[in-house]
Amino acid sequence: MRYRLLDVLACPMCRSFPLRLVVFRQRGQEPKGSESPACELYCGLLGKPVSELRGAPCSECMKVTVEEGALYCEKCGRWYPIIDEIPELLPDDLRDAKRDVEFASAHGMQVKGFILERLP
Ligand SMILES: [Zn+2]
Ligand SMILES: [Zn+2]
Repeated sequence: MRYRLLDVLACPMCRSFPLRLVVFRQRGQEPKGSESPACELYCGLLGKPVSELRGAPCSECMKVTVEEGALYCEKCGRWYPIIDEIPELLPDDLRDAKRDVEFASAHGMQVKGFILERLP
């Protein structure tokens, strides 16, 4: 998952935007030619709304892919895994609770079901 995606992802349960990201593993990746480098609303790499950035210093966010991590929603407290570079933004009833909680504890997150209690 590119940092750039944080500019468009919202919580599937409460629709809050932006989601926050914690990275467990990432790798560099060449940007594709047609991709726009600059975020429009929120730059996940810098963790700031674009309105608070001067110019467009966020082109780096096209060059990094998150391999494993978690997204979390500050509004409703839910967290979502990023596994094999795929952000799994599913509503509660479609999630595999056992697998997700195992993923969280393996990465040092404290969760109560789908609710994040503490980051690693
Ligand atoms: Zn950016
Ligand atoms: Zn939410």
